Parts: sequence; structure tokens; C-alpha cells
Amino acid sequence: MALAPGNHFKADLRAIRFTLWDHLGTERLFKLERFAHLSRDECDAVIDQAYRFATEVTGPLNSTGDRTGCHMEGGRVVTPPGFREAWRKLFEVGLMPFTIPAESGGFGGPSAVGVVLQELQSGANTAFQMYAGLTHGAADLMEHFALDEDRKRFLPAMLDGRYSGTMCLSEPHAGSDVGATRTRARHIEGNVYEITGTKCWISAGDHDLTQNIVHMVLARIEGAPTGTKGLSLFIVPKVWVNDDGTLGEPNDVTTASIEHKLGIRASATAVLNFGDAGRCRGILVGGRPHEGMRQMFRMMNGARIAVGVQGIAVASTAYLNALGYARERQQGSSIRNFKDPNAPRVAILEHSDIRRLLVEMKAKVEGTRALAIKLALHADLARALADSDAGAAAHHEGQVDLLTPVVKAYSSDQAFRIAEMAVQIYGGAGFVEDHPAEQYLRDAKIFSIYEGTNHIQALDLVSRKLGSRGGENFADFLKEIGDFVAEHSARPGLGAELGALGEAATTLQRGAEALMGFFMGGKLDQVTLVASPFLETLSEVAVAHVLLEAAVVAEGRLRREEDDLAHEDVDFYRGKVLAAKYFASYVLPQARARVNAIIAGDRSPLDMPDGGFA
Ligand SMILES: Cc1cc2nc3c(=O)[nH]c(=O)nc-3n(C[C@H](O)[C@H](O)[C@H](O)COP(=O)(O)OP(=O)(O)OC[C@H]3O[C@@H](n4cnc5c(N)ncnc54)[C@H](O)[C@@H]3O)c2cc1C
Repeated sequence: MALAPGNHFKADLRAIRFTLWDHLGTERLFKLERFAHLSRDECDAVIDQAYRFATEVTGPLNSTGDRTGCHMEGGRVVTPPGFREAWRKLFEVGLMPFTIPAESGGFGGPSAVGVVLQELQSGANTAFQMYAGLTHGAADLMEHFALDEDRKRFLPAMLDGRYSGTMCLSEPHAGSDVGATRTRARHIEGNVYEITGTKCWISAGDHDLTQNIVHMVLARIEGAPTGTKGLSLFIVPKVWVNDDGTLGEPNDVTTASIEHKLGIRASATAVLNFGDAGRCRGILVGGRPHEGMRQMFRMMNGARIAVGVQGIAVASTAYLNALGYARERQQGSSIRNFKDPNAPRVAILEHSDIRRLLVEMKAKVEGTRALAIKLALHADLARALADSDAGAAAHHEGQVDLLTPVVKAYSSDQAFRIAEMAVQIYGGAGFVEDHPAEQYLRDAKIFSIYEGTNHIQALDLVSRKLGSRGGENFADFLKEIGDFVAEHSARPGLGAELGALGEAATTLQRGAEALMGFFMGGKLDQVTLVASPFLETLSEVAVAHVLLEAAVVAEGRLRREEDDLAHEDVDFYRGKVLAAKYFASYVLPQARARVNAIIAGDRSPLDMPDGGFA
């Protein structure tokens, strides 16, 4: 039986709003000049609008898009039925440019709210959101680095849905190793270059949603150094755009093929040939040669956070669907009646193990969401304070830097595991196509692979992020946790969990010192061996911190107002406290075990002879 048509996307707007406003205090942004034009009510209205769009427009296209996928017709990619109409509506409701600055045609909204909008869109239909997300990222890149004339030429059409965007890094032999890029650029005149090469796996690389596609392409100008230092970034439109903004000739960008994939099947993943006929022109971004990697990193960092949010989004709807199923599916009787063969059947939600899975899913969804919004809030504060308080801005920028690989890698790894737990809760019904869980599982796998595999994120964390600003970012991260634990450790009901967090933070620091020792001792292979477990440890400490922050807020409400709260509010706040307790009791202790293993310095995988794997 196939999944019933219609929307299967579920979101918990109450939990999202609690994190955004009550827990993280995003409202403080509206006191700063940069965001003073907005209010909490206006942002809530945008969130409601995004939720309506997600449930009414893109949600119903998620499973049908998965079944139909994209296909090629006459050299052009055709997206699944309904996608063109949804694209038009996306721009009619005007959600796209929410975080783009007002001077470039956007609303200048905070990224903290932008993360929520991304979550709603990705949860409803990850594949559809890829087209919009990449367009947003390319527009943001252009807004930052392109020359004024190029911004005017491309940005308005990217913000009103006439053009879409892509990021073109990968080549058949250059995946994780971007420095191996072979696509070439030969100077023609001014900032215009002839582009030749093949890019593969380009998301939204070709489709039928827009009049034009603006590819942001990394290429090497003739004579430039090897490696990433020699790369430059080019704007390569599929159809040339004249100086006056009208469309010109096709720009010699051809689609060789699209991939058949495990998941996100409605997102076209294309192999693109640039300049097969020697007529592909690209515009050097900002007129600055050899700065391609620095420029592209802006889009990559945005995309890394967005991929983490994709993970949270799919994990959240997988969790809420599994919860709904667990409330309805009757199977077995309560363990309390285990001696009674005639005991009534109960919903599987009553079984301890189902509850354990659901609490783990809830804690991880809500914890990773809080971490992603917190990261975005740091980015908003860094921007808003840049002119008035350079020290504070540097601190916030530093936290964005440190947390980006964490949000990307941990949220995406957990998304797949949470989707797997959802399938498990459905039992056999999760393995077949009657329910959305199997698609969530398939869709979620890509998040740990693209936009830099999660191991590449871990290498970034241990080799660059831990030591950046003389180690101050990491020290600030630990200090915030230490201050939080000190402030609240006397709290009734949460003392043990706060103590566990404090201990885990100290343990994490010992892990970082061990890494430093490996670096100093020239044992680089030992550093790379433990980079991923270290990232996981740091992530779990960070997630435990935000979950306990939320628990402190919830516990405060219960203590002060429990008698006046409605029954469902009491449950809501108790849910926050118990999810944090679960994470501190069952997940956080793994941090200590991992750090002990890191310090012990076992080298088995490195010492294993290649033949020993056989
Ligand atoms: C659906 C989909 C959409 C995509 N969209 C885009 C896009 O829009 N734009 C774009 O440019 N690319 C895109 N990609 C490409 C994606 O970013 C790459 O697949 C990814 O970066 C990994 O590169 P690779 O596949 O070549 O794997 P490889 O680099 O070959 O890596 C294979 C394995 O080896 C590991 N590895 C590689 N190098 C090292 C190292 N130095 N140390 C330790 N381990 C290492 C990796 O972690 C991985 O586990 C997409 C891919 C897919 C599947």
C-alpha cells in the first residue's frame, strides 16, 4: 500500500516558540538598531505564514515528489508535478528574502527566526527547499562579495523567483579535496572569463522552476597556484544576462545527466558541463582573483548550518509522526498486568522502550534545534554589535565559528538516527511505504555527506576552530557552561544533572588537551583518528547545556506558577525538564567514556595492516 496522498509534515510550533523566545530570549534583538524595525509579533506572524505554506503547499508534495522524482526531457530537467506552482506561491507569500538586508531587497530579519523558517520548509519538503535554500545562499554570497553592477544585474531576479542559484564545487575527482578542482577560467575582458570544466552532483543544477539559473562556480584562472589558494569564484548564468538585466543567449552550460538517489529524489542533482562549445562566460566575483575559497566559504558556512537545520527538520517531523503512531497503535498489554492474560491491549506509547526511544528523539530534536537557533542568535548579535562593540561582536562571531561544524555534523548524524528510531517505533509499518518514516530515513542520510562530510567537519573543528583566536572561542564556550552551572547548581531537582554537565565540560577540556598533546608530539594521524569522536563529545556537551538551560526556564515556571497553569502547560514544562534529565543521565556519560578512550590513545585502526581488514 502506498502512503496516502496529502500532508504528513508535523511541527511543534509551541516547542519552537518556547526555544526562540522563552529559552533563548531572541526578543532582545529588537532593542538593537539593526533589528529595531521588527517585533516578536511580526516574527510570529511570519512563522505562522511559513507553517501554513509548509503544510498546505509543499508538505503535500513531499511523498509524491519522492515517488515521481525528477527526469530529463530534451536535455532539460523536469521537476515533479506541483513544484512549479509551489515555487510561484513561495515568492507570492514573500518568505524567501526574510534575512537578506533591506538595502538589497530583503526584510533584514534575524537569522534566529530564519532558522525556524528553514526548519519548517525543510521538514515539509526537504527536496523542494533545496531549490529555495541554494538560491538564498547564492543571493547572500552575491550580496556580500559581488560588484554593485552584478548585484543589480542578478539579485532582484533571485529574490523574486525568476532566477535560482547553485553552488558548484564538486568535480568527479574533487569531492572532499576541493583544492583538486580542474575547472579552468581564461581571461576574456574586464571581469569576464571563459569557463571550461565539469561539475558533478550539483543540487538544483538544472530544473524547470525558473527562467534562469545562476551557478556560483569555483574555477582556476590560467597560471594560478595549485590547491585552494589558486581558486576564484565566478557567476556563471545558465542564460547570459545583459547589462540591462534582459536575458541574452544560452551560456553553453549543459546538463549531462541527473543522479538516481537514495533520498531527496525531487531535488535534481546534476552533472553540468561548462563550455563544451567554448562559449561559456563567467563573471569574476567582486573582480577579485584567487579569493574564491574565502568568498565561497560564506555560502558554505551558511549551507553547513542549513544542512544541520535540514537534519533537525526531518528529525522533528519523524519524531512527531512516530509519536502520533505510538499513541494510536494498540499492541500488547501493560507490563504492570504481565500476569493477566486477559489484560486490555494498550497503545504502544505505554511500553517503556517506546517511551525511551521517544524521549531520546525529543531531547535530541529539541536540543539540536536550540543549539542551531543559539548559533544563529550569535550571528545576529555579531552583526548588530559590529559597529558599537567590537569585543562583543568578536565573541559572538567566534561562537558562530566554533559551533558551525558542530551544528552541521551532530544534527545531521542524529537526524539519521532519529529517523531510524521512528522506523523502529512503527515496527513493520515503518519499513513499508504506508507511512512517511521510510522516506525520512532515506532523505536524512545525505545530510552527513554533502556540504563537507561529517568527518571533514570534525577535521575543521580540531584543526582550525579549537585554536582560532588563540583558543579564546573554545575557552568562552567552556566558561559560559561553567558560569551557568555555578549559577544554577543549587536548583531543586536539577542539581545532579547540572553537576554532570559541569563534569562533562571539564572532561571535554581534558580531551582538547590530549588533542593538543598529539599535535605537539607530531601524532597527526592520532588527531584525525579521534576527531569525529571529539566532535561528538563537544556536541553532546553543547546540547546538554541548552537542554538544561531550557529545563531551568521550565522548572522556574513550574515552581512559580504550577497552581495557575493549565494541565497541558504543566505537561509541557515537565516535558522540558525530563528530556534534559534523560539526556544528562543516558547520553552525557558517553562523553566521559569517549574522552577516556581519546586520552588512552589506542591506535588499533592505524596499526591494522591493510590485509588485516580482510
Ligand atoms: C545528493 C547530493 C547533492 C550534492 N550537492 C552538491 C552541490 O550542490 N554542490 C557541490 O559542489 N557538491 C554537491 N555534492 C557533493 C558532496 O558535497 C560530496 O559528495 C561530498 O563533499 C563528499 O565528496 P565525495 O563524494 O567525492 O567523497 P570523497 O571525498 O571521495 O570521500 C569519501 C569518504 O572518504 C572520506 N575522506 C575524504 N577525504 C578525507 C580525508 N582527507 N581524511 C579523512 N577522510 C576523508 C570522506 O569523509 C568520505 O567518508 C552533492 C552530493 C550529493 C550526493
